[in-house]
Amino acid sequence: MAQDGERVTVTLTDGRRLTAAYAVGCDGGHSAVRKALGVSFEGSSAEEVMWCGDVEADGLDRGYWHQWIDEDGAVLLWPIPGTTSWQLQSSLERDAGGRPLPPSLAGFQRLFDRHARVPGVRLASPTWLSTYRVSARMAGRFRMGRVFLAGDAAHVQPIAGGLGMNTGIQDAFNLGWKLALVARGRAGEALLDTYDEERRPVAAWTLKLTGERLRVSLEGTRTAGVGTEIVLTEDTTTLRVGYGWSSLAWGGTGAGERAPDAPCGDARLYEVFAGGHFTLLGFGAASEPVLAEVAALFPELVRTRRADAARAAYGVEGDALVLVRPDHHIALHTGVERGARSSTA
Ligand SMILES: Cc1cc2nc3c(=O)[nH]c(=O)nc-3n(C[C@H](O)[C@H](O)[C@H](O)COP(=O)(O)OP(=O)(O)OC[C@H]3O[C@@H](n4cnc5c(N)ncnc54)[C@H](O)[C@@H]3O)c2cc1C
Repeated sequence: MAQDGERVTVTLTDGRRLTAAYAVGCDGGHSAVRKALGVSFEGSSAEEVMWCGDVEADGLDRGYWHQWIDEDGAVLLWPIPGTTSWQLQSSLERDAGGRPLPPSLAGFQRLFDRHARVPGVRLASPTWLSTYRVSARMAGRFRMGRVFLAGDAAHVQPIAGGLGMNTGIQDAFNLGWKLALVARGRAGEALLDTYDEERRPVAAWTLKLTGERLRVSLEGTRTAGVGTEIVLTEDTTTLRVGYGWSSLAWGGTGAGERAPDAPCGDARLYEVFAGGHFTLLGFGAASEPVLAEVAALFPELVRTRRADAARAAYGVEGDALVLVRPDHHIALHTGVERGARSSTA
């Protein structure tokens, strides 16, 4: 991969060349893009490898997660909703010389029989088998000129709380609208710097949180009656992840935070926000002329909406405007005076 001031050129392994204005490396924890750019990936990886895969299992209640954890190994089976499959994760098997063996259905069954000791449960029909290692690492930068890193390419974290994929999706959600605006000439290049500014601290926070939740859940397994739910906290919902420190958060209550859901006429605000546009919410009669002017000026960029029923959710008293970004975070929260026009807001 090479880049200059104008474009990125990527040479594929089959020799084809692609050029584009920007490139995003979403190529996983072993990211070739990250390595090609020489970006650091600081942190640590557990020595122990785990086995994982999807299997069928007879004789287990699909209403529960099942896990059996001993001093010398573990088997965990989780029903995958909407299928007849289970995700299986386990410690691994070793050969007589102590060397790790590759995952296999027979190996899974032997580990199940040894750790679960539940007679009559047969594992079958694996759709895939693999291994993974718990790591906590993140890239030193998420933007290098015209190239970005997102998802596991940018950060890998312990699985506790199930935040890996979810955090990667939020990376893409944060970056996507910014790239779209810059590519369409509606925003300057500097907007793209806010991707690293906003998402790298979130990645660091996620690494810390998941490391701590992993420790708590491993300790919990030593206590009778403690279940998987111990891993969950208000933080693991990630609903409170916001960018209050961001240069894109302009004053007022909740700037940078997630825009909360609330009723809005015959819809919910989450439905109003969906679709990749900004949303300008107006509270009180004084917001009306600004909503009308913004709707006329930026019909493709901004949808406008009176949202008086959402006053409590947004902490609004009096007449106000709240601008919500395409990724559903609050860009601006400001009061509005009678007779105001958008240029003054
Ligand atoms: C056992 C386990 C359980 C998990 N459970 C959860 C969970 O409950 N919730 C959750 O949110 N997350 C979970 N995760 C984490 C989640 O799987 C990852 O965070 C997520 O898959 C990362 O997505 P990604 O698109 O960034 O990278 P990946 O899913 O790794 O995708 C990268 C893609 O790039 C391709 N690629 C790589 N290099 C190249 C190349 N040079 N050329 C072409 N293609 C390439 C790869 O083949 C792959 O398809 C779990 C992970 C594991 C291992």
